[in-house]
Amino acid sequence: MQPFERLWIWREERVARALSWYRQVATDRMPAKFRICATIPAGLEPASADERALSAELDRLTPFFLARLRAIREGREPLGAPAAGPSLLEVCASLAARMLERCTFCRWECWVDRLRGRRVGACRLGAESRVSCAFHHSGEELVFRGTHGSGTIFFTSCNMRCAFCQNGDISTDCGNGTPVGPRELATLAFRLRREGCHNINWVGGEPVLHLHTIASALALLGRGFEPEPEDRMRVEPLLADRFQDWPEAVSAGHGWHAGGFNAPILWNSNLFVGESVLRLLRLLVDVWLPDFKFGPGRCAVRLARTPRYFETVTRALALLAQWDENLLVRHLVMPAHVDCCTRPVLDWLAAHMPHVPVNIMDQYRPDMFADPRHPGFREEWREIARLPSARELDAAFAHARRLGLCFEAVSFEKRALYA
Ligand code: SF4
Repeated sequence: MQPFERLWIWREERVARALSWYRQVATDRMPAKFRICATIPAGLEPASADERALSAELDRLTPFFLARLRAIREGREPLGAPAAGPSLLEVCASLAARMLERCTFCRWECWVDRLRGRRVGACRLGAESRVSCAFHHSGEELVFRGTHGSGTIFFTSCNMRCAFCQNGDISTDCGNGTPVGPRELATLAFRLRREGCHNINWVGGEPVLHLHTIASALALLGRGFEPEPEDRMRVEPLLADRFQDWPEAVSAGHGWHAGGFNAPILWNSNLFVGESVLRLLRLLVDVWLPDFKFGPGRCAVRLARTPRYFETVTRALALLAQWDENLLVRHLVMPAHVDCCTRPVLDWLAAHMPHVPVNIMDQYRPDMFADPRHPGFREEWREIARLPSARELDAAFAHARRLGLCFEAVSFEKRALYA
Protein backbone atom coordinates (compact mmCIF):
# COMPACT_ATOMS: atom_id res chain seq x y z
CA MET A 1 0.00 0.00 0.00
CA GLN A 2 1.32 3.48 -0.88
CA PRO A 3 2.16 5.76 2.08
CA PHE A 4 -0.55 8.13 0.80
CA GLU A 5 -3.12 5.37 1.25
CA ARG A 6 -2.03 4.80 4.84
CA LEU A 7 -2.76 8.39 5.94
CA TRP A 8 -5.05 8.38 8.98
CA ILE A 9 -7.42 10.83 7.28
CA TRP A 10 -8.71 8.10 4.96
CA ARG A 11 -10.14 6.29 7.97
CA GLU A 12 -12.52 9.24 8.38
CA GLU A 13 -15.50 7.75 6.62
CA ARG A 14 -17.15 11.00 5.47
CA VAL A 15 -13.91 12.39 4.10
CA ALA A 16 -13.08 9.15 2.32
CA ARG A 17 -16.54 8.98 0.80
CA ALA A 18 -16.58 12.62 -0.34
CA LEU A 19 -13.15 12.32 -2.01
CA SER A 20 -13.28 8.75 -3.29
CA TRP A 21 -12.71 9.58 -6.98
CA TYR A 22 -9.83 11.93 -6.19
CA ARG A 23 -8.18 9.33 -3.99
CA GLN A 24 -8.33 6.68 -6.71
CA VAL A 25 -6.88 9.00 -9.34
CA ALA A 26 -4.18 10.18 -6.91
CA THR A 27 -3.08 6.57 -6.49
CA ASP A 28 -3.37 5.90 -10.25
CA ARG A 29 -6.01 3.23 -9.82
CA MET A 30 -8.28 5.42 -11.96
CA PRO A 31 -7.50 7.72 -14.88
CA ALA A 32 -7.96 11.46 -14.48
CA LYS A 33 -10.92 12.96 -16.28
CA PHE A 34 -8.76 14.64 -18.92
CA ARG A 35 -7.57 11.17 -19.93
CA ILE A 36 -11.17 10.00 -20.30
CA CYS A 37 -12.01 13.07 -22.42
CA ALA A 38 -9.26 12.07 -24.84
CA THR A 39 -11.06 8.77 -25.54
CA ILE A 40 -14.35 10.41 -26.63
CA PRO A 41 -14.24 11.19 -30.38
CA ALA A 42 -15.46 14.63 -31.47
CA GLY A 43 -17.81 15.11 -34.40
CA LEU A 44 -16.20 18.33 -35.62
CA GLU A 45 -12.77 19.85 -36.17
CA PRO A 46 -12.26 21.85 -32.96
CA ALA A 47 -9.49 24.08 -34.31
CA SER A 48 -11.77 25.60 -36.96
CA ALA A 49 -15.14 25.54 -35.17
CA ASP A 50 -16.71 28.64 -33.64
CA GLU A 51 -17.73 29.03 -30.01
CA ARG A 52 -21.38 28.16 -30.58
CA ALA A 53 -20.53 24.92 -32.43
CA LEU A 54 -17.96 23.94 -29.81
CA SER A 55 -20.37 24.61 -26.99
CA ALA A 56 -23.06 22.49 -28.69
CA GLU A 57 -20.52 19.71 -29.23
CA LEU A 58 -19.50 19.83 -25.60
CA ASP A 59 -23.16 19.46 -24.59
CA ARG A 60 -23.63 16.60 -27.04
CA LEU A 61 -20.57 14.70 -25.82
CA THR A 62 -21.02 15.26 -22.08
CA PRO A 63 -23.50 12.36 -21.63
CA PHE A 64 -21.02 10.02 -23.41
CA PHE A 65 -18.28 11.25 -21.12
CA LEU A 66 -20.42 10.72 -18.01
CA ALA A 67 -21.43 7.23 -19.09
CA ARG A 68 -17.79 6.27 -19.66
CA LEU A 69 -16.72 7.86 -16.39
CA ARG A 70 -19.36 5.83 -14.57
CA ALA A 71 -18.37 2.59 -16.32
CA ILE A 72 -14.68 3.13 -15.52
CA ARG A 73 -15.47 4.07 -11.94
CA GLU A 74 -17.57 0.95 -11.45
CA GLY A 75 -14.86 -1.24 -13.00
CA ARG A 76 -17.00 -2.23 -15.98
CA GLU A 77 -14.66 -0.70 -18.58
CA PRO A 78 -10.95 0.08 -18.83
CA LEU A 79 -9.88 3.54 -19.98
CA GLY A 80 -9.59 2.57 -23.64
CA ALA A 81 -7.41 4.12 -26.32
CA PRO A 82 -7.38 7.83 -27.13
CA ALA A 83 -9.53 8.83 -30.10
CA ALA A 84 -7.68 8.64 -33.41
CA GLY A 85 -8.85 12.12 -34.40
CA PRO A 86 -10.05 15.12 -32.38
CA SER A 87 -11.67 14.31 -29.06
CA LEU A 88 -13.68 15.92 -26.31
CA LEU A 89 -10.37 17.03 -24.80
CA GLU A 90 -9.58 19.18 -27.84
CA VAL A 91 -13.17 20.46 -27.82
CA CYS A 92 -12.60 21.70 -24.25
CA ALA A 93 -9.32 23.37 -25.17
CA SER A 94 -10.68 25.02 -28.31
CA LEU A 95 -13.84 26.18 -26.56
CA ALA A 96 -11.78 27.85 -23.83
CA ALA A 97 -9.67 29.53 -26.52
CA ARG A 98 -12.79 30.85 -28.30
CA MET A 99 -14.32 32.07 -25.04
CA LEU A 100 -11.22 34.20 -24.54
CA GLU A 101 -12.33 36.34 -27.48
CA ARG A 102 -15.50 37.39 -25.60
CA CYS A 103 -14.39 36.56 -22.13
CA THR A 104 -16.95 35.09 -19.77
CA PHE A 105 -14.56 32.93 -17.81
CA CYS A 106 -15.89 34.35 -14.57
CA ARG A 107 -19.05 36.03 -13.27
CA TRP A 108 -17.83 39.49 -14.19
CA GLU A 109 -18.78 38.44 -17.73
CA CYS A 110 -16.82 41.29 -19.25
CA TRP A 111 -17.28 40.14 -22.88
CA VAL A 112 -13.92 41.71 -23.79
CA ASP A 113 -11.63 40.27 -26.44
CA ARG A 114 -8.65 39.21 -24.37
CA LEU A 115 -6.99 37.64 -27.39
CA ARG A 116 -6.56 40.93 -29.23
CA GLY A 117 -6.43 42.97 -26.05
CA ARG A 118 -8.20 46.12 -27.25
CA ARG A 119 -10.00 46.38 -23.93
CA VAL A 120 -9.45 44.68 -20.60
CA GLY A 121 -11.99 43.36 -18.15
CA ALA A 122 -12.12 43.37 -14.37
CA CYS A 123 -9.06 41.13 -14.12
CA ARG A 124 -7.11 43.50 -16.45
CA LEU A 125 -5.58 40.52 -18.29
CA GLY A 126 -4.98 39.87 -21.95
CA ALA A 127 -4.31 36.43 -23.37
CA GLU A 128 -1.03 35.93 -21.54
CA SER A 129 -0.93 33.69 -18.48
CA ARG A 130 1.72 34.24 -15.85
CA VAL A 131 2.95 31.91 -13.15
CA SER A 132 4.60 33.10 -9.97
CA CYS A 133 6.05 29.73 -8.96
CA ALA A 134 5.43 25.98 -8.83
CA PHE A 135 6.25 23.72 -5.91
CA HIS A 136 5.36 20.77 -3.68
CA HIS A 137 2.91 22.49 -1.33
CA SER A 138 3.19 21.05 2.16
CA GLY A 139 0.64 23.42 3.71
CA GLU A 140 -2.57 22.25 2.04
CA GLU A 141 -5.08 19.93 3.69
CA LEU A 142 -3.64 16.50 4.51
CA VAL A 143 -5.74 14.85 1.80
CA PHE A 144 -3.95 17.09 -0.72
CA ARG A 145 -0.45 17.55 0.70
CA GLY A 146 -0.20 13.86 1.63
CA THR A 147 3.39 12.68 1.98
CA HIS A 148 4.97 14.39 -1.06
CA GLY A 149 3.05 17.62 -1.32
CA SER A 150 0.38 19.07 -3.55
CA GLY A 151 1.79 19.95 -7.00
CA THR A 152 0.96 23.62 -6.91
CA ILE A 153 1.10 25.94 -9.91
CA PHE A 154 0.64 29.47 -8.68
CA PHE A 155 -0.81 31.93 -11.20
CA THR A 156 -0.73 35.67 -10.81
CA SER A 157 -3.78 38.01 -10.97
CA CYS A 158 -7.27 37.64 -9.58
CA ASN A 159 -10.87 38.58 -10.34
CA MET A 160 -11.65 39.52 -6.73
CA ARG A 161 -10.15 42.37 -4.73
CA CYS A 162 -10.00 41.08 -1.16
CA ALA A 163 -8.54 43.89 0.92
CA PHE A 164 -6.87 41.33 3.19
CA CYS A 165 -5.39 39.08 0.47
CA GLN A 166 -2.42 37.13 1.79
CA ASN A 167 -0.99 36.87 -1.72
CA GLY A 168 -1.72 40.48 -2.53
CA ASP A 169 1.62 41.08 -4.22
CA ILE A 170 0.93 38.48 -6.89
CA SER A 171 -2.86 38.73 -7.08
CA THR A 172 -3.04 42.47 -7.69
CA ASP A 173 -0.11 43.01 -10.05
CA CYS A 174 -0.83 41.75 -13.59
CA GLY A 175 2.83 42.15 -14.55
CA ASN A 176 4.06 39.84 -11.84
CA GLY A 177 5.36 36.35 -12.56
CA THR A 178 6.67 34.70 -15.71
CA PRO A 179 4.67 34.29 -18.94
CA VAL A 180 3.84 30.66 -19.66
CA GLY A 181 2.15 28.79 -22.46
CA PRO A 182 0.58 25.33 -22.53
CA ARG A 183 3.95 23.57 -22.93
CA GLU A 184 5.39 25.21 -19.84
CA LEU A 185 2.30 24.37 -17.79
CA ALA A 186 2.29 20.78 -19.04
CA THR A 187 5.98 20.50 -18.18
CA LEU A 188 5.44 21.84 -14.66
CA ALA A 189 2.50 19.48 -14.09
CA PHE A 190 4.42 16.51 -15.49
CA ARG A 191 7.44 17.20 -13.39
CA LEU A 192 5.61 17.83 -10.11
CA ARG A 193 3.51 14.73 -10.46
CA ARG A 194 6.40 12.51 -11.45
CA GLU A 195 8.33 13.85 -8.47
CA GLY A 196 5.66 12.38 -6.21
CA CYS A 197 2.98 15.08 -5.85
CA HIS A 198 -0.50 13.71 -5.24
CA ASN A 199 -2.33 16.13 -7.51
CA ILE A 200 -1.89 19.17 -9.72
CA ASN A 201 -3.18 22.13 -7.79
CA TRP A 202 -4.15 25.04 -10.08
CA VAL A 203 -4.33 28.16 -7.91
CA GLY A 204 -3.66 31.90 -7.83
CA GLY A 205 -4.92 34.53 -7.67
CA GLU A 206 -7.64 32.73 -9.50
CA PRO A 207 -6.96 29.91 -11.99
CA VAL A 208 -10.11 30.41 -14.07
CA LEU A 209 -8.59 33.57 -15.58
CA HIS A 210 -6.10 31.20 -17.25
CA LEU A 211 -8.56 28.55 -18.34
CA HIS A 212 -7.47 28.75 -22.00
CA THR A 213 -3.83 27.99 -21.15
CA ILE A 214 -4.69 25.30 -18.61
CA ALA A 215 -7.12 23.49 -20.93
CA SER A 216 -4.50 23.52 -23.71
CA ALA A 217 -1.90 22.15 -21.29
CA LEU A 218 -4.25 19.31 -20.34
CA ALA A 219 -4.86 18.64 -24.03
CA LEU A 220 -1.10 18.09 -24.36
CA LEU A 221 -0.89 15.89 -21.26
CA GLY A 222 -3.83 13.79 -22.39
CA ARG A 223 -2.14 13.14 -25.72
CA GLY A 224 1.15 11.64 -24.62
CA PHE A 225 3.15 14.84 -23.98
CA GLU A 226 6.48 14.34 -22.28
CA PRO A 227 8.76 17.32 -21.73
CA GLU A 228 11.89 17.74 -23.83
CA PRO A 229 15.12 18.89 -22.15
CA GLU A 230 14.54 22.43 -23.43
CA ASP A 231 11.01 22.43 -21.88
CA ARG A 232 12.52 21.47 -18.55
CA MET A 233 15.14 24.18 -18.76
CA ARG A 234 12.50 26.83 -19.49
CA VAL A 235 10.47 26.04 -16.37
CA GLU A 236 13.47 25.62 -14.06
CA PRO A 237 13.32 29.22 -12.73
CA LEU A 238 9.70 28.69 -11.70
CA LEU A 239 10.43 25.70 -9.46
CA ALA A 240 10.55 27.13 -5.99
CA ASP A 241 11.23 24.43 -3.45
CA ARG A 242 13.67 21.95 -2.10
CA PHE A 243 12.08 19.17 -4.11
CA GLN A 244 13.43 20.49 -7.35
CA ASP A 245 16.34 18.09 -7.32
CA TRP A 246 14.24 15.04 -6.64
CA PRO A 247 14.81 12.18 -9.02
CA GLU A 248 11.86 11.30 -11.18
CA ALA A 249 9.90 9.38 -10.21
CA VAL A 250 9.35 8.38 -6.63
CA SER A 251 8.28 5.01 -7.90
CA ALA A 252 8.41 4.01 -11.52
CA GLY A 253 4.62 3.86 -11.84
CA HIS A 254 3.76 7.07 -10.00
CA GLY A 255 1.66 9.45 -12.10
CA TRP A 256 1.05 6.82 -14.74
CA HIS A 257 -2.12 4.96 -15.74
CA ALA A 258 -2.76 2.72 -18.76
CA GLY A 259 0.44 3.78 -20.48
CA GLY A 260 0.12 7.52 -20.03
CA PHE A 261 0.55 10.46 -17.67
CA ASN A 262 -2.02 10.63 -14.90
CA ALA A 263 -2.75 13.20 -12.18
CA PRO A 264 -5.87 14.37 -10.36
CA ILE A 265 -6.72 17.91 -11.40
CA LEU A 266 -7.39 20.01 -8.30
CA TRP A 267 -9.30 23.27 -8.89
CA ASN A 268 -8.34 25.65 -6.08
CA SER A 269 -10.66 28.56 -6.77
CA ASN A 270 -12.87 31.34 -5.43
CA LEU A 271 -15.62 29.78 -7.57
CA PHE A 272 -16.82 33.18 -8.77
CA VAL A 273 -17.82 31.58 -12.06
CA GLY A 274 -20.91 30.97 -14.15
CA GLU A 275 -22.50 27.77 -15.35
CA SER A 276 -20.99 27.68 -18.85
CA VAL A 277 -17.47 27.52 -17.42
CA LEU A 278 -18.49 24.94 -14.83
CA ARG A 279 -19.88 22.70 -17.58
CA LEU A 280 -16.46 22.76 -19.20
CA LEU A 281 -14.47 22.38 -16.00
CA ARG A 282 -16.64 19.47 -14.92
CA LEU A 283 -15.00 17.42 -17.68
CA LEU A 284 -11.46 18.23 -16.57
CA VAL A 285 -11.49 18.68 -12.80
CA ASP A 286 -11.24 15.65 -10.52
CA VAL A 287 -11.52 17.46 -7.21
CA TRP A 288 -12.67 20.96 -6.26
CA LEU A 289 -11.27 23.13 -3.49
CA PRO A 290 -13.43 26.27 -3.44
CA ASP A 291 -13.28 29.18 -1.01
CA PHE A 292 -16.59 30.25 0.45
CA LYS A 293 -15.84 33.41 2.42
CA PHE A 294 -18.71 35.87 2.54
CA GLY A 295 -22.33 35.74 3.59
CA PRO A 296 -25.28 37.17 1.66
CA GLY A 297 -24.97 40.77 2.90
CA ARG A 298 -22.70 43.51 1.54
CA CYS A 299 -19.47 42.12 3.00
CA ALA A 300 -18.18 40.78 -0.35
CA VAL A 301 -18.67 44.22 -1.91
CA ARG A 302 -17.15 46.11 1.01
CA LEU A 303 -14.18 43.80 1.60
CA ALA A 304 -13.55 42.31 -1.85
CA ARG A 305 -15.21 44.70 -4.34
CA THR A 306 -17.18 41.71 -5.64
CA PRO A 307 -20.92 42.03 -6.31
CA ARG A 308 -23.29 39.03 -6.59
CA TYR A 309 -20.83 36.93 -4.60
CA PHE A 310 -23.11 34.81 -2.43
CA GLU A 311 -25.62 34.03 -5.19
CA THR A 312 -22.80 33.12 -7.62
CA VAL A 313 -20.83 30.86 -5.28
CA THR A 314 -23.92 29.10 -3.90
CA ARG A 315 -25.23 28.47 -7.41
CA ALA A 316 -21.87 27.02 -8.44
CA LEU A 317 -21.63 24.87 -5.31
CA ALA A 318 -25.18 23.61 -5.78
CA LEU A 319 -24.33 22.53 -9.32
CA LEU A 320 -21.21 20.70 -8.19
CA ALA A 321 -23.24 18.93 -5.51
CA GLN A 322 -25.93 18.03 -8.05
CA TRP A 323 -23.21 16.59 -10.30
CA ASP A 324 -21.85 14.60 -7.34
CA GLU A 325 -18.38 16.08 -7.75
CA ASN A 326 -15.57 15.46 -5.25
CA LEU A 327 -15.37 18.61 -3.20
CA LEU A 328 -13.77 20.11 -0.09
CA VAL A 329 -14.90 23.62 0.88
CA ARG A 330 -12.75 26.18 2.69
CA HIS A 331 -14.15 28.88 4.92
CA LEU A 332 -11.89 31.52 6.47
CA VAL A 333 -13.14 32.90 9.77
CA MET A 334 -12.68 36.68 9.75
CA PRO A 335 -12.77 39.01 12.74
CA ALA A 336 -16.14 40.72 13.25
CA HIS A 337 -17.68 38.57 10.50
CA VAL A 338 -18.89 35.49 12.34
CA ASP A 339 -22.54 36.55 12.42
CA CYS A 340 -22.74 38.03 8.93
CA CYS A 341 -20.46 35.60 7.06
CA THR A 342 -19.44 32.46 8.98
CA ARG A 343 -22.91 31.55 10.26
CA PRO A 344 -24.80 31.97 6.96
CA VAL A 345 -22.03 30.22 5.01
CA LEU A 346 -22.07 27.24 7.37
CA ASP A 347 -25.89 27.26 7.47
CA TRP A 348 -26.01 27.13 3.69
CA LEU A 349 -23.51 24.27 3.52
CA ALA A 350 -25.41 22.30 6.17
CA ALA A 351 -28.69 22.80 4.32
CA HIS A 352 -27.41 22.01 0.82
CA MET A 353 -24.35 19.77 1.09
CA PRO A 354 -24.11 18.41 4.64
CA HIS A 355 -21.76 15.58 3.63
CA VAL A 356 -19.08 17.76 2.05
CA PRO A 357 -15.96 18.23 4.21
CA VAL A 358 -15.39 21.85 5.27
CA ASN A 359 -12.06 23.27 6.37
CA ILE A 360 -12.91 26.06 8.80
CA MET A 361 -9.70 28.03 8.79
CA ASP A 362 -8.46 29.99 11.80
CA GLN A 363 -5.37 31.55 10.22
CA TYR A 364 -6.76 34.94 9.20
CA ARG A 365 -4.36 37.81 9.75
CA PRO A 366 -4.68 41.39 8.53
CA ASP A 367 -2.63 41.57 5.36
CA MET A 368 -2.28 43.95 2.42
CA PHE A 369 -4.78 46.84 2.64
CA ALA A 370 -6.31 45.48 5.85
CA ASP A 371 -2.98 46.09 7.57
CA PRO A 372 -2.97 49.61 9.11
CA ARG A 373 0.73 49.93 8.20
CA HIS A 374 -0.05 49.55 4.48
CA PRO A 375 -0.26 52.87 2.59
CA GLY A 376 -3.53 51.68 0.97
CA PHE A 377 -5.22 50.99 4.32
CA ARG A 378 -8.69 52.50 4.67
CA GLU A 379 -10.71 53.16 7.78
CA GLU A 380 -13.60 51.07 6.38
CA TRP A 381 -11.39 47.99 6.85
CA ARG A 382 -10.53 48.75 10.47
CA GLU A 383 -12.89 45.98 11.64
CA ILE A 384 -10.71 43.33 10.00
CA ALA A 385 -7.37 44.83 11.04
CA ARG A 386 -6.90 42.27 13.79
CA LEU A 387 -6.77 38.53 14.36
CA PRO A 388 -10.05 36.74 15.03
CA SER A 389 -10.51 36.33 18.78
CA ALA A 390 -10.64 32.97 20.55
CA ARG A 391 -14.31 33.67 21.28
CA GLU A 392 -15.05 34.22 17.57
CA LEU A 393 -13.22 31.06 16.54
CA ASP A 394 -14.97 29.05 19.25
CA ALA A 395 -18.33 30.40 18.07
CA ALA A 396 -17.54 29.34 14.49
CA PHE A 397 -16.52 25.82 15.48
CA ALA A 398 -19.45 25.44 17.90
CA HIS A 399 -21.87 26.48 15.18
CA ALA A 400 -20.40 23.97 12.73
CA ARG A 401 -20.65 21.28 15.40
CA ARG A 402 -24.30 22.11 16.09
CA LEU A 403 -25.03 21.83 12.38
CA GLY A 404 -23.37 18.42 12.20
CA LEU A 405 -20.91 19.50 9.50
CA CYS A 406 -17.96 17.32 8.59
CA PHE A 407 -15.22 19.75 9.55
CA GLU A 408 -13.10 18.54 12.45
CA ALA A 409 -11.03 15.98 10.57
CA VAL A 410 -9.98 18.47 7.87
CA SER A 411 -9.74 21.57 10.09
CA PHE A 412 -7.71 20.13 12.97
CA GLU A 413 -5.42 17.66 11.27
CA LYS A 414 -1.90 18.63 12.17
CA ARG A 415 -1.16 15.36 13.91
CA ALA A 416 1.25 12.74 12.56
CA LEU A 417 0.61 11.33 9.11
CA TYR A 418 -0.27 7.80 10.13
CA ALA A 419 -1.47 8.18 13.74
S1 SF4 B 1 -11.66 36.41 -16.60
FE1 SF4 B 1 -13.46 37.35 -15.63
S2 SF4 B 1 -12.71 39.39 -15.02
FE2 SF4 B 1 -11.27 38.64 -16.57
S3 SF4 B 1 -12.05 39.43 -18.52
FE3 SF4 B 1 -12.89 37.35 -18.24
S4 SF4 B 1 -14.89 37.67 -17.32
FE4 SF4 B 1 -13.71 39.58 -17.04
